[in-house]
Amino acid sequence: MSVVFLNDRYLPLNEAKISPLDRGFLFGDGIYELIPCYQQKMIGLDPHIERLQQGLSATKIAFNWSKQQWRELVSQLVERNNIPNVGIYIQISRGADTNRSHGYPKNITPTLFAMAQPIADFNPNTNNTRLKIKSELDRRWRRCDIKSTSLLGNLMHFDSAQTDGYDEILVHSDKNIVHEGSSSNIFVVKDNQVSTPIANQTILPGITRRLLIKQLIKSTEIQFEERNILLSEAIEADEIWITSSSRQIQPVVNLNGQPVGTGEVGDVYKNIAEEYYKTYF
Ligand code: PMP
Repeated sequence: MSVVFLNDRYLPLNEAKISPLDRGFLFGDGIYELIPCYQQKMIGLDPHIERLQQGLSATKIAFNWSKQQWRELVSQLVERNNIPNVGIYIQISRGADTNRSHGYPKNITPTLFAMAQPIADFNPNTNNTRLKIKSELDRRWRRCDIKSTSLLGNLMHFDSAQTDGYDEILVHSDKNIVHEGSSSNIFVVKDNQVSTPIANQTILPGITRRLLIKQLIKSTEIQFEERNILLSEAIEADEIWITSSSRQIQPVVNLNGQPVGTGEVGDVYKNIAEEYYKTYF
């Protein structure tokens, strides 16, 4: 039985109980984070905690843990669950009120729930993941920069991809500007030039995206740019990659049923994924 953390203590998952009046349940009124740990090594803990704190402040959820307290929570859950490659989910809702009403209630205590869940190993040298994705008009809200637990928009997009036999969605604006996946950021490569969408309110500023950008900027052979990318450019790309904390960097070989580039994993991916792995793992 996995060990979880609820509000102020560690306990077995089956003993963790939350009120039905919790605003996380009633409204999706909360935010979350996923911190990946591979063989006890946390990847990007500080930026994850910063994004969590930004989410709390944007949603006016009063929860003032220090970085040190978050770090301790993550290491405790890693230790107590003893899973080699693990994602630590931290979920914070505004808390449970005494009735159901839209206004943010005063003086309620936020609910903190955290748990450990296995994630796939990441090793670009042995990884044989090849993703198929399809594109669709983005129908989510206009604050995708907040890592909110209100994920129904993302879930509906992901279901649409799965229903059609794809691994992930690629959502774009009504002007055909590429945004991101249902739970991942996107990178496209053309002629050795790597691009990713600008981190505005149409996408989540992914931590894996951020770490990969650092690596790309260091690389002398690769040109890198954050810019608006048209769907037509993704269709014409030599390579497409997606990034997320639970998957790291993965190559996309098929978009809308058509091969991306040669339809094989590209060389730019292989090189940068290896450099990224050496730096962070
Ligand atoms: N975009 C969305 C919509 C996501 O849900 C995620 C994963 N949480 C990402 C991008 C990737 O972010 P990260 O690298 O921080 O996991």
